[in-house]
Amino acid sequence: MGNERHSSSDRFRLWIDDACVSSGQCVLIDPALFGFDDDGTTRVLVAEVTGETLPSASAAVANCPIGAIHLDPMPHI
Ligand code: SF4
Repeated sequence: MGNERHSSSDRFRLWIDDACVSSGQCVLIDPALFGFDDDGTTRVLVAEVTGETLPSASAAVANCPIGAIHLDPMPHI
């Protein structure tokens, strides 16, 4: 991790898997990308990440205590 470079046109699908324990770190890192449902479940608010939001999305991935956040490259159109 860390050496790959992304262009501003790269797009990633942001998602949280079932291992999430709703610790809230991701919501603290970027409340524009992550939030809580009424039942306390954490969910992504923006499923598609591009250049501007990639740094905080990557920080959330790195700081999730159980690795439940994923950023999958989306194909170029
Ligand atoms: S940081 Fe990870 S475990 Fe915590 S709420 Fe976000 S996805 Fe869930």
